[in-house]
Amino acid sequence: MQIKKASFLRGAVGPSQYPDDGFPEIALVGRSNVGKSSLINRLINRKNLARTSAQPGKTQQLNYYAIQSDIAPFYLVDCPGYGYARVSRTEKEKWQAFIEKYLANRVPLVLVLQVIDIRHEPSKDDIAMFNWLMDQDLPVAVVATKADKVPKGKWQAHTSKIMRALDSPKKPLIFSAESGIGLDQLKDLIEELVEP
Ligand code: GDP
Repeated sequence: MQIKKASFLRGAVGPSQYPDDGFPEIALVGRSNVGKSSLINRLINRKNLARTSAQPGKTQQLNYYAIQSDIAPFYLVDCPGYGYARVSRTEKEKWQAFIEKYLANRVPLVLVLQVIDIRHEPSKDDIAMFNWLMDQDLPVAVVATKADKVPKGKWQAHTSKIMRALDSPKKPLIFSAESGIGLDQLKDLIEELVEP
């Protein structure tokens, strides 16, 4: 798959702002600072279309990126990062309800990319999100990012740990926004799902 064009559509704060053209949507979830924006920028080959978080945890909107590829048009939807310590519990619960409502009800949603840092054990929030996605029967691919920060010989051990913590038999996709590791695999995965 080749990305022809990518643009920021809007930060949607509710369903009335979601697009109505029915193009497939791929959502990204992950804790704040895990590297979702960097993944988007690498995928669309732009340095700074998705703003890497100056203010982690502050985006309470679904950031819609409109993508034109040689296969089909689709949207990347960056969900607010979770697990940011410096917001109140009520605030957290509000965001969570907002994200969950979108994920559980959004018809054009074809894939959720759950982005996890390859270096660390999944957090409680990561595990809770993964379990919730499984309970909803949503199609999920776990992306283990920042792979450039771990020597290649240790990738396997790290991904096994992630699989064990999530209790998932599926191997995470090993990725790095820095080096481009896993980019082709990620594109192949997206291509399969957005094909008309
Ligand atoms: P977001 O909050 O999930 O959107 O995270 P960002 O994309 O803003 O990334 C947070 C920080 O991690 C930034 O300083 C990025 O440069 C860095 N980062 C993101 N992805 C990678 C990666 O694959 N490798 C390395 N080494 N750093 C990364």
